Amino acid sequence: MNFSELYTCSSSLCSYSPNGYYLGRCSGNRLFVQGSDALQLLHVFSNEQVVTEVEWSPDSMLIVCAQKKAGIVQIWSLNDPGSWKCKIDTGCVGLEKTLWAPDSRSVLLISKFYLRLDIWCLWNKSVVHIDHPKKPRSSDDDWSKHNVVGVSTISFTADGKYLAIARREKCKDIVSIYQCQSWEYVKSFQADTINLAGLNWAPDASTLCVWDCNLAYKCLLYSPSGALLRSFSPEDPSVQCHLGIRCVQWSPDSKLLAIGGYDQKVRLLNHLTWQEIVGWTHSKTMAEKTRTCAVYQERPLNLESIVHDDFRDTATDTAYAVVSSFEIQNTKPDPSKPNPKIGVVMMAFGSQHLATLNENMPHAIWVWNLATLSLKAVLLQLEPVRCCTWDPHPSETRLALCTGTDKIYFWTPQGCISVRVPNQASSSLSIGQVSWHPAGGTLLFSSRDTVLISGVSMAGVSLGGFTFSEFFKKGKTFRPKKKFVPGTLKYSLHKQAQASLNAGKNLRYAVRLPPGEDLNDWIAVHVVDFFNRINLIYGTVCDYCLVESCPIMSGGQKFEYLWCDGVKFKKPVRLPAPKYISFLMDWIEDQINNEELFPVRVDVPFPKSFGSLSRKILTRLFRVFVHVYIHHFDRIISIGAEPHVNTCYKHFYYFITEFDLVSAKELEPLKDMTARICNDPVPPPDEMISYEEINLALGLPHDFGLNHQKLQATASAAARSRSPHMAAASTRSPQHVSSR
Ligand SMILES: [Zn+2]
Repeated sequence: MNFSELYTCSSSLCSYSPNGYYLGRCSGNRLFVQGSDALQLLHVFSNEQVVTEVEWSPDSMLIVCAQKKAGIVQIWSLNDPGSWKCKIDTGCVGLEKTLWAPDSRSVLLISKFYLRLDIWCLWNKSVVHIDHPKKPRSSDDDWSKHNVVGVSTISFTADGKYLAIARREKCKDIVSIYQCQSWEYVKSFQADTINLAGLNWAPDASTLCVWDCNLAYKCLLYSPSGALLRSFSPEDPSVQCHLGIRCVQWSPDSKLLAIGGYDQKVRLLNHLTWQEIVGWTHSKTMAEKTRTCAVYQERPLNLESIVHDDFRDTATDTAYAVVSSFEIQNTKPDPSKPNPKIGVVMMAFGSQHLATLNENMPHAIWVWNLATLSLKAVLLQLEPVRCCTWDPHPSETRLALCTGTDKIYFWTPQGCISVRVPNQASSSLSIGQVSWHPAGGTLLFSSRDTVLISGVSMAGVSLGGFTFSEFFKKGKTFRPKKKFVPGTLKYSLHKQAQASLNAGKNLRYAVRLPPGEDLNDWIAVHVVDFFNRINLIYGTVCDYCLVESCPIMSGGQKFEYLWCDGVKFKKPVRLPAPKYISFLMDWIEDQINNEELFPVRVDVPFPKSFGSLSRKILTRLFRVFVHVYIHHFDRIISIGAEPHVNTCYKHFYYFITEFDLVSAKELEPLKDMTARICNDPVPPPDEMISYEEINLALGLPHDFGLNHQKLQATASAAARSRSPHMAAASTRSPQHVSSR
């Protein structure tokens, strides 16, 4: 994930233009317009006062900057930035809110206290007044400020032809329809409501939905001509139902209407009969047996200190774990307050899912599958969710959210991820708003006070959803793992090596040749072990190491590796990283499965070339480390695997330096990082971890394997078998590969 630098911005006033070409942000009284791709500054407009609201015209050509305190708006043109100017002074009526009309040539100004609505036509300077517009009930709500919550009393049809506006006249709720071309009044009808709370056109303009205040759970559906199609109230009014509807949202195809209530339920109505097709509850707990969803819980991570400079800024300190038992924190609303923080406050339709938030469970996001009408996932955050939004790109199913921390979170059907935003600012980041580029793929996120960050590109972002231990459990590797057969000599050596690792000792001890052991055996065991582990590490990034993303096998700018096997590739060739690594792993697999090179039986001696061959294998394995560390470490961090990879690297590094198996020149690309992490003290020459310690760590008798002869005896008892490396035999035909 790439991040832009930080930009200043007041009160989160920043947004993409509807066509996606521009980014507008306000800082104090200035409006900055940048190109959305390269973020180059295009225009700076100076307003008279501090800007309190900024809105792009639908055609992306004009920007209105409201300055509430002074009661003025200034409008700027991108077509004619030098000379075209517009300023409207609302005078004594004041200014509450501004809105663009769909034609981009009229601007709607709502006066203070919603006394009246003025529609200013910029092209002929005429004004149309509409008296007594209704104030949407939750206009002061934190949630409705930054989220599409479906609460409004002014609604345009998606084709831009009609405006529906809720008004209050003589203690009655009136819905008035205007034609947007000439602002001609079309008609009005009285809504069958006690105190209308909101209205909303279906995206296809076929239906207008109107709902009542919290004294009644009532949702009314009208045709554009004002005929009542259906009045919906739940059939099972619960105790809390009389608190009514909190928000209403149409699905993008107009086929579903979602109603979120104070009763903490989401009800979906179908567009044919307007019957309730499903009612979803947000329950605190769910029995594991009946649960159909995955529950992801954000948890703090104890990372080793971050070692790689490039990733220090983005290493996240939390990760998601899939949990089986959980209880969602439920806050008790204060009944004495006028707007109780209870019930469904946010509903967001994605292409196949609906995301919801129940305000008295502010840490949980619920994702419902619209095809199966069942709960798909629950995300349990450490902090209350502040904003949550779907990637608009039609082929992406991706939900982004933030919780007022320095992290942003993503849910996809494959899983969840937490990403920390690099912070070059002196103050800490508190991201309270996220919005997608209109075409998707790029995110804009802003912290409440002064900074704005733009995630320039999401390309290559890894969305895992597994913590590394779960990844490990799944055993996903790039190549099948080699196994050691229990009871063989290699198995016990392998176990010893593992135990000294697990014992949390100085790894420099762990790599030393145990007394009486054969050096070639010790090296052979480690080669196979390192192959398996590096295989596993590469397996976690291989989905992201593609021909497009890694067209050459490189380790940063300075190092590039060319492949040459002397058979198929007689001369060194430039290969994309995934191809190179694939050849490399195939080649190593062939070597370690060749019983002449890696003898399985104790009576078969190691070949003379064993030393140079194991050097070559380890040198090539090191190159995989180089590529992963330099090009894919964001992925490693995102699944919380950094400590594991670092430990594995340290072990590898100590091993190859202990026996001088890889040349210093090869180690160059990771030299700085190595100096930082491989700094365990060098032990005195004759000290090692004792076998007793290793056995203890393994839970074996303390004298197990103490005597090499005994081991040999065990080994010969097991048909004098060293270790069949072929345990997980490859079905691939052997390649005869030599290397430069
Ligand atoms: Zn790569």
